[in-house]
Amino acid sequence: MTPASPSASEVGWRLHHTYAALPELLHSAVRPTPVREPEFVVFNVALAAELGLDVAALDSPDGVAIFAGNVVPDGAFPLAQAYAGHQFGGFTALGDGRAILLGEQATPDGRRVDIQLKGAGRTPYSRNGDGRAAVGPMLRELVISEAMHALGIPTTRSLAVVVTGEPVHRERTLPGAVLTRVASSHLRVGTFQWAAAHRDLAALRAIADYTIQRHYPDVAEGPARYLALFDAIVERQARLIAQWQCVGFVHGVMNTDNMALSGETLDYGPCAFMDAYDANTVFSSIDSGGRYAYGNQPGIAQWNLARLAEALLPLFDADEPRAIEIAQTSLERFRDRFAHHFVAGMRAKLGLARDEDGDDALVDGLLDWMQSTHADFTNTFRQLARPADAESLAQGDAAFGRWHASWRTRLVREAHDLDAAVVLMQRSSPAIIPRNHKVEEALTAAEQGDLTPLDRLMTALRTPYDHHDVPPEFASPASASDGPYRTFCGT
Ligand code: AMP
Ligand code: MG
Repeated sequence: MTPASPSASEVGWRLHHTYAALPELLHSAVRPTPVREPEFVVFNVALAAELGLDVAALDSPDGVAIFAGNVVPDGAFPLAQAYAGHQFGGFTALGDGRAILLGEQATPDGRRVDIQLKGAGRTPYSRNGDGRAAVGPMLRELVISEAMHALGIPTTRSLAVVVTGEPVHRERTLPGAVLTRVASSHLRVGTFQWAAAHRDLAALRAIADYTIQRHYPDVAEGPARYLALFDAIVERQARLIAQWQCVGFVHGVMNTDNMALSGETLDYGPCAFMDAYDANTVFSSIDSGGRYAYGNQPGIAQWNLARLAEALLPLFDADEPRAIEIAQTSLERFRDRFAHHFVAGMRAKLGLARDEDGDDALVDGLLDWMQSTHADFTNTFRQLARPADAESLAQGDAAFGRWHASWRTRLVREAHDLDAAVVLMQRSSPAIIPRNHKVEEALTAAEQGDLTPLDRLMTALRTPYDHHDVPPEFASPASASDGPYRTFCGT
């Protein structure tokens, strides 16, 4: 017997199914597999309200049943998406092996966002794996994605984490969980690679048109539209990666199936924020070659975009050599566009509003100093935003002192007062990031049923640019005795 539940419209679901209307090659209908004993760990009430959902009605056993996949809301059309991807450089056919899309929610502010249950059971694309997820990695995605959102960096969001009451078997046996992910879409570089690998030109064109409609409506009709789409994707990725670099975010698994065409950060597995600045920073235990190190992220993004261009070639021009030439020119712009966004972001972090030649050298000078002293990335910028502290650091460190002098000269040339510069610096550099040891502490406690540290962390992460009254527990890196931080793939 199915318990009576409020109808979809009563709780605010307004689900559309434009993805389901795309060619069959791209998706498979599949229902979530019910779980034994679902229970909320976190329900993101603020996000639910933004989506037009009835918070009170969903913060209940009925809501839990939906976010666990036990009840499919009326009007949902659950499906798994097909895609391929280069994982650590090797090409594989993939697809949602444990994620199920319920549909696209029409929000009160006129957007359409994917509602996806991650860890909702096996799908036609799961070959290995149980289709499930463990609570730790799902909470990790929730914490980091919501932190990224508060930082103003485009990202998927996390609406709920529900434990399933069922164990998942990894290296250890862990509590199972389902995460409800909200995304502008789940179109990825790998979606195009899937269609290209099947040599299905109609499907390729259909996804390209769909991507334009959904994310790049300004791309004009006409024969050059697919190249214009590619240009726009390049631009958005350049901006996104620059934003990551400006806060010290290391994604950790920038496979082509994890690069969203919307320009949102997608798939929070072994990601983490740097404490000490080091361009070679890698957290993921499986990234032994450092392919996805902090300093490699721009290069990898461009490499992924090259894979996208390859998939799109037949849409650029019927003549392949000509298509390659066109793609190459567009792809080469990535470097400059990234540099542009990165220096702009860094300039703001230095309190500089005006664009001057030599700013990139000024930025490099600071990064070189941080690299050689292993200074804490976040706290260095916090300190710059406190002129007296920056001054005293300059007194005590000759190399920093030289950089500091050139920075101050540059600031004075701007002819705006120091107070304005401080305001700009504080707006551009977070005082609080999800420090690895605090994330670990919160997840460990949550796994044992204590949600207090998680609540405290999430509250602090909601206002990252508030430089006043930063709780000391969130302001300092882990002690060196903790050793290097390692993350594991988010399964
Ligand atoms: P990810 O590393 O999360 O990007 O996942 C890469 C691919 O592996 C995707 O197709 C996932 O759906 C699939 N996958 C990851 N974990 C599991 C699992 N526990 N069961 C089935 N498929 C999985
Ligand atoms: Mg993925």
